[in-house]
Amino acid sequence: MKIHMQVMIAVGLGLKRNWHIFFGIIAGIFAGILLQGHQDSMIYKALIFVGQAFIRLIQMVVIPLVVSAVIIGIASIGDNKQLGKFGVKMVVYYGIITVTAVTIGLSLALAIQPGQGAEQYIDAQVAGEIQQQVSATIENQRENLLNIILEFLPKNPFSSLAMGDMVPILVFTLLFAIALSKIGEISRPVISFFESIFAATMKVTDWIMFLAAPGVFALTATSIASFGLDIFSSISKYLLVVALGLGIQFFVVYPLFLRIFSKVPVFMLYAAMTEAMMVAFGTASSSATLPLTIACCEKRGISHKIASFILPLGATLNMDGTAMVQIIAVLFLAQAYGVDLSFFMLLQIFILTIVASSTCAGIPGTGLITIVLVLNGMGLTPEQLISGFALLYTMDRITDMLRTMVNVTSDAVVAAAIADNENEINYDLLNNPENYNDVI
Ligand code: ASP
Repeated sequence: MKIHMQVMIAVGLGLKRNWHIFFGIIAGIFAGILLQGHQDSMIYKALIFVGQAFIRLIQMVVIPLVVSAVIIGIASIGDNKQLGKFGVKMVVYYGIITVTAVTIGLSLALAIQPGQGAEQYIDAQVAGEIQQQVSATIENQRENLLNIILEFLPKNPFSSLAMGDMVPILVFTLLFAIALSKIGEISRPVISFFESIFAATMKVTDWIMFLAAPGVFALTATSIASFGLDIFSSISKYLLVVALGLGIQFFVVYPLFLRIFSKVPVFMLYAAMTEAMMVAFGTASSSATLPLTIACCEKRGISHKIASFILPLGATLNMDGTAMVQIIAVLFLAQAYGVDLSFFMLLQIFILTIVASSTCAGIPGTGLITIVLVLNGMGLTPEQLISGFALLYTMDRITDMLRTMVNVTSDAVVAAAIADNENEINYDLLNNPENYNDVI
């Protein structure tokens, strides 16, 4: 073998796997640009296969992982008072982060007006009808909200498990886990059973992660290849607002949040979370990234108690990046269709966005689907806004990759802050990356 090949292989094997993922993303971007317009090629199809195989494999472990993690997390907290304290803190922290995200998204979208300029793609007559409809009644919206809440309550937990409906699964698991913590010794065999499930699922995740670099390469390449670059200019302002908003959340809000509510050093936390962030970016799925989010947190100093309780709930319910993109997208549509929004309507959009983002499954693309909820609240359906939606869809994957990375980071930020407040963090480990265990 030629010497330079040997050197390259040695370097490749010697690098930590998070670098492999990083190179996978960069190489994927270049490969995606080269593949533009070649969606019929064998290479593109092979890459789709590799990417999908990787996503399916990691999704495979999500349900057993979430259920077992929440059960043992709550069981290990044990004491009901402490559980209540963690729970309240979690809701307050996730709430603060999401409300901040939506406020930033709303302010940027009002200030920069991303939808201006996109009107040329919209039929003027359709725009007129939309305006009338929005100004008309919004009476079914309360019913709408109640129905959403009903859907959260599982009629049959096994059918929710089979369908992968995360919110009902969580509702049942939480109640079940709290019940286990109340029945004393008799709960021990069940908890041990779930401890074994958790450990075995994490082992399977370790194996799947061997595919992380090729998987992320394939996913990045195929999504870049499918971007409609021709309409890029009509939507570039929207992308700019999204990138700016998510950037503020990532670089300003989280560091400030950690500063105010804890003494966790943000750089160390971000260093600890690198692999999870990259996999979130590559897969655009916070559920699929969850095993890695848990592993990064636990192997780098956050206690199992906190990580296994806070992170699965966060990966399902806390979607601040998604909420921000949703409100920007709704305002983009309103501006593109020339709809005037009253203060009351903005307030309603604000609240519905938070609800819509929490109902969003942590898989690619759902953010743009649950936006329907917000539009319904305005008396609209996506079909009416189809040309505007088409613009958003063509670029959705890129905003999805970014918002998912933000969603996953905020779960870790909240987990770290709670761990700090409750003395459940090992700073000797977190602050010394040379002692980090490889998570993949
Ligand atoms: N892909 C996002 C996530 O998994 C959800 C979305 O915004 O579509 O967190």
